[in-house]
This record gives sequence, C-alpha cells and structure tokens, in this order.
Amino acid sequence: MLTLPPDLLVSICIIVAALFYAAGLFIPVAPWLKTFIFASCVVITGYDILIDTVTKLIRESEFNAGLLIVITAAVAFAIDKGAEGAAVMLIFRLGELACNKLVRRSANDIERFMDLRPEAVNAVINGAIVQMAPGKINVGDVISVSPGERIALDGVVISGESELDTSALNGKAAQLSVTAGSKVLSGSVNLKDALNIRVTSDFDNSTVSQILELVKEAENRKAAPEKKIGKIARLYTPAVAAAALIIGILVPVIGGMPINLWLQRALGLLVLASPAAYVISVSLTYFAGSGGASKKGIIFKGADVIDTISRTTSVVFDKTGTLTDGIYRVVDVSALGLPENRLLMLAAYAELFSDHPIARSIVAAADIMLDITKVSDFREYPGKGTEIEIGGNSVTAGNALLMEELGVRPDISQVEYSAVYIAVNRQYAGRILLRDTLKPDSVKAVKDLHIIGIDRIVLFTGDKKEVAADVAGQLGIKEFYAECLPEDKFSRLKGLLDMQLKGDKLIFAGNGADDAPILKMADVGIAVGGFTSNETTDAADMIIMTDEASKIATAVTLARNTDKVVRQNIMLAIGLKSLILLLAAFGLASMWMAALADAVFALIVMMNAKRAFGIKGRDIREIRQHNNDDED
Ligand code: ADP
Ligand code: MG
Repeated sequence: MLTLPPDLLVSICIIVAALFYAAGLFIPVAPWLKTFIFASCVVITGYDILIDTVTKLIRESEFNAGLLIVITAAVAFAIDKGAEGAAVMLIFRLGELACNKLVRRSANDIERFMDLRPEAVNAVINGAIVQMAPGKINVGDVISVSPGERIALDGVVISGESELDTSALNGKAAQLSVTAGSKVLSGSVNLKDALNIRVTSDFDNSTVSQILELVKEAENRKAAPEKKIGKIARLYTPAVAAAALIIGILVPVIGGMPINLWLQRALGLLVLASPAAYVISVSLTYFAGSGGASKKGIIFKGADVIDTISRTTSVVFDKTGTLTDGIYRVVDVSALGLPENRLLMLAAYAELFSDHPIARSIVAAADIMLDITKVSDFREYPGKGTEIEIGGNSVTAGNALLMEELGVRPDISQVEYSAVYIAVNRQYAGRILLRDTLKPDSVKAVKDLHIIGIDRIVLFTGDKKEVAADVAGQLGIKEFYAECLPEDKFSRLKGLLDMQLKGDKLIFAGNGADDAPILKMADVGIAVGGFTSNETTDAADMIIMTDEASKIATAVTLARNTDKVVRQNIMLAIGLKSLILLLAAFGLASMWMAALADAVFALIVMMNAKRAFGIKGRDIREIRQHNNDDED
C-alpha cells in the first residue's frame, strides 16, 4: 500500500515546468505566446494526470480529484488566467511529491526497523566458514554467529557461551545468557562471544520472517476510522465539485454578477478537491502504531485490532500457561494398594500422548524410560483427562469430573493443588497433587490493567475451585470461573460478550491450542508467549512475543495513543479543509494560495501520523511511575 512508484521523472518534469513558468512570467512576449508557455507548463507537469483522467472519464466515467485539477487548469485558461492555472498545477504536483516522499520515508523507516533479517550468514561447512544468503540454509545446518551479529535463523546453540540482546523481539532490556543446548530465536543479537548454532527452522519459518510477514499482512486489515475516512473522501470530491458549480455559474447567472470573478472563486474550491493525502495519513498512522508495537514485542494482526483494542473495557485470562507458567511440580502422591512410584508410572503411561501441561509434568516426574509399544488405545477427554490400554488393563488419569463421569469414586481433596486421579480398570487407584507457579509478570499484568482504567478482569480455568481462588487471590482478580470445560469457557465468554455495552470491547488472553475457538470469538484474542502453536497464532488478533501478560496493558496504551493520533488527523483534515474551502468560497484565498495551503497542511498531517510510532503515551509513563513508587 505504502510503496509508490519512483518520482524522479515527476521531479524532472516539475523543474522543467517551473523554468517554463518563470519564463512565462518574466520574459516579455506576445500574450498568445505567454498563454502557450503556461499551457506547456501545465502539460509538462500534469501530462500523466491529463491522460489518466481522460481515459478514466471515458472508460469508467469516474469523477476524481485529478479530473478537477484538470478542469481547474482548463477553466483558468478560458478566463485568461493561464499563469494561475499553471501555478496551481505546479503546486499540486509539488505537494503530492513531497507527501509521497514523506510517506515513503516514514514507511521505510518503520519497515527497516521491523525487518531484522540479516542479508548474509556464516555457514559452517566441513569446518570452513562460508558466507551464504540465509534463505539457502537448511534445517540441521550449522551457522556461526560472531559477536555483534544478528542471528538470522532460529536454532539451538551447539557450542559457545554468550549473552543475547533479545530486545528487538520482546522489548526486554535484560540480556539472555545462552550456552550449548539453549534455544535461540532469530532477531536476537549476539553480544559477547562467537556461537555455533544448529538451525531448527528454515529462513521463511524463522521467527523474524514470521513477524515481518504478520506485520505486512496487517496492512490489509483496515480499521473502522480508515474505512470511514475512505467513505467521506469518496463523497467529498463530488460535493466540492457541486459547490464549485453553484459558486462559479449559478451565483453569477442568477445574481447577475461578474462571471469571471466568481469563476475564479469556484476554481479556488476545485483546487481543494483532493482528500488523498489525508486518507493516506490515517493509514500511515496505523502503520506507525503497528511498527511501534512490534518494537515492544507486540504484534497486531491488523489496523482494525488497534482500533478495537483501544476500547477495551474487560480482559479475560486463561489461567494455565498464561498467568501461571504451566510447569506443574508434583507435590504429593497417594496410592491405594500399589506402590507410589508404580502409580506415578501408570499415570505417566496414561499421559504419554497428551500435550496438556499436566501430562508433560507427570511424564517428567515419573522420570523413567517408558515403552511406547506397550500402550494401545490412547484417548483424550478434552479439559478432563486421558485414558490408555496397557497390558490388557485400562488406565485413566484425569480430574474429578472425569472420574464421576466414568463412575469412579476418588478420594477428593479440598486443597489448592491441582489433582489428577488415577483409575485402573475404572477402579480408583490413587491421586497425584500438583501445582504450577504464577509467572513473575502476572501480578504486574493485572495491576497495569487497573492503572490504565480497565477494571473488569476475569479468570477462566479448567482447574479446581480452590486453585482458581488461590491464583485469583494472589493476583487481585475478583471474578473467576473454575472447572470450566473448553465448551464452558466458550459459552461463558459468549455470555460476557452479550452483556457488554455497545462499543465496549473484550480481550481474551490465552496460549493453548485448545483456546483457539475462544480467541476467535473474543473482540480481541491475544496469544501470550510468541508463536506457541499454529492454531493459537492463527486464531489470535494479537501476539505477545514474550511470556509477559503485562504487555496487554502496554498494547492497549499504544493503541489508544495511535487512535488519538488518528482522531487528531481526521479532525485536522476536516478542520483545515473546511477553513480553506470557506476562504476560497468567499474569495479570500486565490487559487494558488488555496493550493499552497492545502499542500502544506497535508504535509503537517502526514508528519503528525508518524507520532504513533513513538510510544511515550501518558499512560505508559503513569505505569512506570507507579512501579517505581512501589520499589522505593
Ligand atoms: P486450563 O483452564 O487450566 O488451561 P484445561 O482446560 O487445559 O484448563 O484443563 C482443565 C483441567 O482438566 C485440568 O486442570 C485438569 O484437571 C484436567 N485435565 C485436562 N487434560 C488433562 C490431562 N491430560 N491429564 C490430566 N488432567 C487433565
Ligand atoms: Mg489451557
């Protein structure tokens, strides 16, 4: 959208035309020759507009701003104001050129900032280092990254120890220490010593490429104000033309006034007929907003998301993996008629094929070699548990709900730990108590939301009431719903959405693949923790690259800031245009003055747009202030 053709040719035309114009003004020649010189000036500057509007007019009978400029110039010549006609065309093109330059520069700045992809990498091939394009590297290849270099592809460190600057991915100032075995993401900068990295995803699938891809796609999703100003713009041109017709023809004919004078005023109006710059400025603002956000590790999947999230009034969090780390530690095992470690082993077999964080933790806690070939008939009950067949016996692992459903009578414990009950052949065999911990950032996440005035914060979890109450209490969340099956979360969220006042927006923040339908349903679905799973990333409207849910408050603040700039620009556009329109209509601004004022104002609006890239919103300062106060 924001890439425009090179305008070297236009610049040359403008210079040549300006020389013609000066010649027409200052060299004393016969009046017909003067007119001819000014006419050439118009043709040289605006030949492409002329051709374009004439063909458009013939083919689509479309009414656009270019056509009005052409009419302006033509009428100017007809009433013997050739010099003015030429001046208007010159100013129009000059303004357009400057605007395009500015837009392209801003867009480039922002894009360059977001494009963190190095042009070359050092591949290690048979012990020798070979410079290659990152696109040529395959999964499994080894690359060497020197200090100061940006990592081009995701991978795992195989040798070397260093610190990484990951701020481009997540806006974090802290450095990340890595050694052999550490996962590294492309886009990070190696700070200390050379690293050898085995590549785990090719260039197109690496984190930096994915980020860039998403941000670029974002340009295709238009925000409501963007659509609105587009609509206004389409009405605007014919409206101005109609006004010009009334002022230039109707007023003098009916009022019996000098037609030349009123025609000139009408032409002053026509000069103002193009809203294009203002429309572009709004898109540019959203683009700048997205860019500024990506600098903080926040990826908006569309301009519409910025607009929606700026009006957030409630935030719903999924517990596991979003506010807690999802790493469960076994707190207690109690077995009925079999040794505890045997119960743990059976549980591990039951959980072998499940992706659930509880399952992963039980398998890890059992800490033995499991023989996959023994297991048959794996079955997962979403939000409840799992079941397998092993050596002719069925083993079930799951929560109280699942046990009840299968007619097993577990020994229910009323503690604030997550419980997994185990049944063998549908007979209760024992239970495992586990707990995961709050992420260090979660308290701040909730507090920051309160600071920026979002007070309705809700917690959803499939976990037990006691666990939900414990987590909610630690975070200061008053509203929580426990023991939710995935479909309960869905209908609860639907309930919350239905209850909302018009214009209020709701965020759902989650991170599991099972959260995808809920992410889709919320006004804004936020995936916390980077590219966790394809389902999640696809379903979400916004992605937080880090594990920090506090970035939600940052994102809302950024979006509010962007929206403010958009509103300012729309208001400036309407205000300034109306002002010049009025002046021109009453003959207080001549044709060329109107053209000049319009061009200058367009530039001002364009420069304002770039402010959305800066992220020094008032609210962010406030959050910082608050947090500093707490530390003191
Ligand atoms: P959350 O809202 O915490 O993400 P989930 O819907 O993922 O919850 O899971 C809800 C509950 O279902 C868990 O707290 C657990 O009791 C039970 N559960 C789900 N999957 C499993 C599993 N594979 N093994 C044991 N329990 C499970
Ligand atoms: Mg979950």
